Amino acid sequence: MSALRFMRAVRLVQPGRRLELQELAVPEPGPNDALVRVKAAGVCHSDAHYRAGKSRVDPLPLTLGHEVAGVVQKVGSGVSDFKAGDRVCLHYLATCGECDYCEQGNEQFCGLGKMIGKYRDGGYAEFILMPARSLFHLPDEIPFEHGAILMCSSATSMHALNKARLKAGETVAVFGVGGLGLSAIQLAKAFGAREVFGVDINSAKLSLARELGAIVIDAANVDAVKELKRLTNGRGVDVALELIGLPLTMRQTVQSLAIKGRAALVGITDKTFEIAPYEEVLNKEAEIIGVSDHLASELPLLIEWVRQGKLNLSNIVTRTIPLDADAINETLDGLEKFGADGRVVIKPELNCR
Ligand SMILES: [Zn+2]
Ligand SMILES: [Zn+2]
Repeated sequence: MSALRFMRAVRLVQPGRRLELQELAVPEPGPNDALVRVKAAGVCHSDAHYRAGKSRVDPLPLTLGHEVAGVVQKVGSGVSDFKAGDRVCLHYLATCGECDYCEQGNEQFCGLGKMIGKYRDGGYAEFILMPARSLFHLPDEIPFEHGAILMCSSATSMHALNKARLKAGETVAVFGVGGLGLSAIQLAKAFGAREVFGVDINSAKLSLARELGAIVIDAANVDAVKELKRLTNGRGVDVALELIGLPLTMRQTVQSLAIKGRAALVGITDKTFEIAPYEEVLNKEAEIIGVSDHLASELPLLIEWVRQGKLNLSNIVTRTIPLDADAINETLDGLEKFGADGRVVIKPELNCR
């Protein structure tokens, strides 16, 4: 086999501009790295933010894409857990593996940690280089498209439920039933939640949530807090997840809590929201918990639940596209307009138009 020298990659050259297809040298793995042939890369809403310049991407130009699954092409001399041909999915942080945060399993705070598709080249390419410690084996039962997207939105939902300390038998309200929320509903059930409520104003998303077993609340027609109270006999829910990033729904997650309830805030906003401290928090010993990213240590159970079918991602991946700058830019346009439901996944082996 002749050596692979060049590859295609779709890259952010300058914020505010369309992504561009470039030809790059295929990277060479260092001793602890793996070179992975990309089979699937999810197009995430945050990629639209990166393209628009709403959050920093550095250095430029840079290959976007942080939801990646593929096949190991080649490993460095120090790598023993993976070999060429292994199916893998990638934890999106390339970390040092040696600092205190990494050693304690809090690697999302690693000072040297670099997110792929943001601070180092990501998966909108034929190949990606990654420290082998960020690779996870992807079981044969899980298609690459699902392996890619479970590493971002599903992992965040898992982390949120872990941070909220959800226990079997408890009730959960999920505010926002897009990709993140549809994962959260299924994961809450896998954790043994007694009842899972899905709150949204989009009827298409609500019907998907209902199919996954959620009791849905259409907040376009009813007051979500009153409805949650009514459906729980006035008690409120034990755990409420806010996946939207709006001050209104943040307050509603807190207001819908039962005694000793936990509100986990995942959606991002730079706005502030109000709470009535005594009535809504102190009196109930409620907790408001911040959620950022996820942990590598949470991924094996998540992957196992996908393998077992407890988390079914078929409804979440709606379309696949080739590794083509126009197709990717159009997908990002759709995400910016906020209309798109479900997930689009890039498959580099599909032919370009
Ligand atoms: Zn993502
Ligand atoms: Zn570290």
